[in-house]
Amino acid sequence: MSRIYNFNAGPAVLPLEVIEEAQRELVDFRGTGMSLLESSHRAKAYDAVHNEAIANLRELLGIPEDYAVLFLQGGASTQFSMIPMNLLLPGTSADYVNSGSWASKAVKEAQKVGAVNVIANTAKDIPTRIPAMETLKFTPGAAYVHITSNETIAGAQWKAFPKTEAPLVADMSSDILSRPFDVKDFGLIYAGAQKNLGPSGVTLVIVRKDLAEKAPAGLPTMLDYRTHIEANSLYNTPPTFGIYLLALVTRWVKKVGKENLFKQNVEKAARLYAAIDASGGFFKGTAVPECRSDMNVTFRIFPDGANASEEMEKKFVAEATAAGFAGLKGHRSVGGLRASIYNAFPPQGVDDLVAFMADFQKKNG
Ligand SMILES: *Cc1c(COP(=O)(O)O)cnc(C)c1O
Repeated sequence: MSRIYNFNAGPAVLPLEVIEEAQRELVDFRGTGMSLLESSHRAKAYDAVHNEAIANLRELLGIPEDYAVLFLQGGASTQFSMIPMNLLLPGTSADYVNSGSWASKAVKEAQKVGAVNVIANTAKDIPTRIPAMETLKFTPGAAYVHITSNETIAGAQWKAFPKTEAPLVADMSSDILSRPFDVKDFGLIYAGAQKNLGPSGVTLVIVRKDLAEKAPAGLPTMLDYRTHIEANSLYNTPPTFGIYLLALVTRWVKKVGKENLFKQNVEKAARLYAAIDASGGFFKGTAVPECRSDMNVTFRIFPDGANASEEMEKKFVAEATAAGFAGLKGHRSVGGLRASIYNAFPPQGVDDLVAFMADFQKKNG
């Protein structure tokens, strides 16, 4: 067996032991004589999986009882619409912080539903950044404030969250369960599972129940949070296998210890940024230092110290891929390089990449 270092931004690396466990259980799931893939979502065996996934998340994230934990479909992208449909009540407006590509998409969808105030915009800033906290001017009486806790493409991350009067809504797709935060500071949190929680096809939504209850009547059934709260995410067929993998991933986080993982995440990112900063300008981070993401490390190559070279970056990606480092190409919309180092990415992989980068610089610098 040969596993490479997987720096993909999402779907992304999963803990090897989770994949192996799923493999062991694949054909005969826990004595049922069938695969979980073939099981009814109303069966007892699946029910245990579903409730374990919710219980693990409640424990790991400290989710209070007055919040619902939902497993939905349509990706985080569907939440861009579903959130305003449910929370942007007629006659109100919502504040959005536009910090990059993902926030921009959330803004665009919300504008189709109701009144949106973009209260800060750094989406086009180079170097990339999150708007500074002191520049945020919230609209009194706003229905909610929407932020993107980690801009996966830009590699920029909120290091502290704003205190808001209106419920805070956060797209945490690429950094949920990677660092401590208090659920009680938020009205709604959502995340596609395919970065830190499991495979694609499951979207986690954590929503304060009283907010969901205030949604307008007449929403499409599947786009109304109340439907899924009442049915414990079993109104229709949920993505059962994805939720199973999420249960295994969260079980793994419990075993490793979330505090250990959080600490490891900070250390992994720090080692990579330190290598970038110590390269004498050959490698340069693309986000301002105070907003550097611990999950998505974005950087470029400046062979002459002044101009980034796409050609050199292409060479870097090709040689890295050949050496067993996959997924280092930056997002197609921005170019450059990106190392996504989510929870399941092993520290050794960061050390090996650092060594590879030094070697590459020696040969090309
Ligand atoms: C990946 C990502 C999304 C998109 O998620 P889908 O599940 O593909 O819709 C949205 N927001 C952020 C911050 C992401 O990283």
